[in-house]
Amino acid sequence: MSTATCRICGLLYVSSLVEDQKTHAAIHKKLASGSQPQKVRDFSKAFGWAVAHNDGGLERMKDQHDPELGKLVVAFSWWSRALSNGVQVKDFDSYMEAHLAFADSLVSGIDVDKTSAAIKKWERFAG
Ligand SMILES: [Zn+2]
Repeated sequence: MSTATCRICGLLYVSSLVEDQKTHAAIHKKLASGSQPQKVRDFSKAFGWAVAHNDGGLERMKDQHDPELGKLVVAFSWWSRALSNGVQVKDFDSYMEAHLAFADSLVSGIDVDKTSAAIKKWERFAG
C-alpha cells in the first residue's frame, strides 16, 4: 500500500484505495471549477493583510511560507486566469502539473525550454 501526497491539493492518500481515489477526484473537481486549497487562500489573506496594514507584516511572514506554496499560489492564479478565458475544466490536472513543472524550472533555471514547451498548448488562455 503506497501513500502519496498530492502536490496540487495537498491530500495525503492511498492511491490503491477506491475510497481515496473518489475523495481525491471530488477535491480536484472543486478546484478545477475555481475553488482554491485552504493553504492557498490563507497565503493570499496573510499577504493581503500584511500589505493592507503595512506594519512590518511582510517582513514577519518571510520565513512562514515555503517556496512550494509560493509556486502553488502562482499556479492557481494562472489556472484562475485560464478559467476566465475558457480553458476546459477537464484539463485541470494536466494543466496544473505542467504549470507547476514550469514554475519549478523558472525558479531553478533548469529545463525552462522543455517546461515552457509543455504549457504552450494552453497559451491562448493566458491572455
Ligand atoms: Zn490532489
